Formats: sequence, C-alpha cells, structure tokens
Amino acid sequence: MEDGCEHPEGSPIGKCAICDRTVCTECYHDVFGAMICDLHRGLEDESDWELVGFYDDAASLSERRYVLEENGVTSLVVEGDEDAVELYVPNIEKDDAFASLEASADNEYSCPECKIQFSGNMEACPVCGVKPSDEDEADQIRE
Ligand SMILES: [Zn+2]
Ligand SMILES: [Zn+2]
Ligand SMILES: [Zn+2]
Repeated sequence: MEDGCEHPEGSPIGKCAICDRTVCTECYHDVFGAMICDLHRGLEDESDWELVGFYDDAASLSERRYVLEENGVTSLVVEGDEDAVELYVPNIEKDDAFASLEASADNEYSCPECKIQFSGNMEACPVCGVKPSDEDEADQIRE
C-alpha cells in the first residue's frame, strides 16, 4: 500500500481526495478545489466527474464510499456549501455507482428525477428539489 509520492523536490501539501495518498507540490492535481494525486491524473477535469450524492453526516458518507469501493467505483469527496459534502464518481462509472448506492441505501433517498442520492434528513433533492415520494421510499424509512 502506498503512503504517498516520493518527490525529493516537493513538499507534502495534503492528501488525495480519492485515495488518501499524500501529495506534494510537485504532483498534486486540482479538481473541484480538492487535491488528487498523480494516479488519477486522467480525472483532473471536472467534466470527467458525475455528482452522485449529497450527505450531511460523515458516517453515512464513509459507508457509501466503502460500498462504492467494494464495487470497484472510484469516488471523490468535495466539501460543499452548508454542511453537506458532495460525492462524485468518474462519468464512466456512474451507472455502477448509482446502482450500488441505491442497493445499499439505508437512511438515504435516491432522487426519482436525477438519481442523485441524499441523506434521509434532507427534505428534498439538493439538485432538482424533488421531494422523496412516500410511496417509493416507505420501505427505506425506519422509525
Ligand atoms: Zn489518489
Ligand atoms: Zn509528489
Ligand atoms: Zn433530483
């Protein structure tokens, strides 16, 4: 397992938002204001990514990322406005990502319009404003 890069010239400046590897001034790339490492050089363009989820609690987020990783999907966390974090996956992996997220939902909803998943205590889809329908989501709510 890799801890980070080995650039004698560079000074470490943070961790890759995708794989947690240390990045330095010589090898970091920037996407959505987050740092990513050389391994993901091909993904430094924002148009390579698809937004798949909004989460307002860390536990839920790390579970979702774990599920994606198990399904071979790369994911990127971006701190959004307010308290929510945004979860992105590469465009080419988005179908797998939506399928895995939906299948593993616990207290999350998947928007019926745009498919984006969001934490159950958010009232509406942060992207398109659609409210989760009681009918579809009843089996996902446990109170
Ligand atoms: Zn990385
Ligand atoms: Zn480096
Ligand atoms: Zn939506």
